[in-house]
Amino acid sequence: MQALRYHQFGGPEVLKLETLPDPDVSPDSVLVRMKATALNHLDIWVREGIPGLPIHLPHVPGSDGAGVVVAVGKNVSQWRVGDEVVIQPGTFCGQCDACKRGQEDLCPEYGILGETSPGVMQTLKNYDPVNLGPKPTDLTWEESAALPLAYLTAWNMVMNRAELKAGETVLVQGASSGVGMAAIQIAKYIGATVIATARTAEKRRAAGMVGAHHTLDSADPKMYKEVKSLTRGQGADVVVEHVGQATWQNSLRSLGFAGRLVTCGATTGPVAEVEIRHIFSKRLSILGSTMGSVADFNAVLSLAEKGVLKPWIDRVFPLSEGSAAHEYLVSAHEFGKVVISME
Ligand SMILES: [Zn+2]
Repeated sequence: MQALRYHQFGGPEVLKLETLPDPDVSPDSVLVRMKATALNHLDIWVREGIPGLPIHLPHVPGSDGAGVVVAVGKNVSQWRVGDEVVIQPGTFCGQCDACKRGQEDLCPEYGILGETSPGVMQTLKNYDPVNLGPKPTDLTWEESAALPLAYLTAWNMVMNRAELKAGETVLVQGASSGVGMAAIQIAKYIGATVIATARTAEKRRAAGMVGAHHTLDSADPKMYKEVKSLTRGQGADVVVEHVGQATWQNSLRSLGFAGRLVTCGATTGPVAEVEIRHIFSKRLSILGSTMGSVADFNAVLSLAEKGVLKPWIDRVFPLSEGSAAHEYLVSAHEFGKVVISME
């Protein structure tokens, strides 16, 4: 089999396509031949080395993928050879209180394929059955591969943490990312009014095509005033944040009374100022979110099956061009997902 791996942390050039022995299926696992995988910003941070996160080298990156079951371990009954699957990227103990009540993302041992354990960018891989879900029938392999991490993350943020409701207004910062795009589609499905932001006119046009009702320039320091005027002075009910330092002030100031800001990342920098009086006087909530539960993943798959959710693919690279795909994601020119074809 072939695997994209790195033996040391560093830039995109550390990624190498290597030929390794084909794995046998293990008794408790399902062996999947991967058809497509997708990149996330997490792949870049892990490749560069996250301080305090012990990663065994060489490391196979990647959290998102889809493929076909080619062998089933003797202790596994829920999957069959030939099943088409997408990868659920969360790993967890399955035994603790959080796991037992279906909040696997709160498991103390929660990890992510491609971050805390070897990832999906190898043509054959053994998976725990809990890491597989049915591939949505009408999605392509590339679209299916692009679905898991971004939609799972956005679903938990929008539905569970911010509890966005029909008739409310949501501001989605950084609409061109996988999470931004997923948040737009989910919010629109709920019946919310969606204001999306991006840095270029081209990305704002694409945000409109994905479903945003209004688009704004995320680089405008007074962007929050536009949000106020679009909401008749009220401000947004919810802000979906993952950009971080560069957008934080606009995000907080865009919120209306009792608004909720939910964040899952800080791509542009981890430290931002908060004016505390805004938080208490406006009764704001600042909510953190990372990944989601198996039930959240299944909810996403079921809406993808109905055609409600569909990832926006920016570009597909062959497996042999893994480092070029990483370079492209670092350049931040993309709108939607960067995918790697495994065939
Ligand atoms: Zn657990």
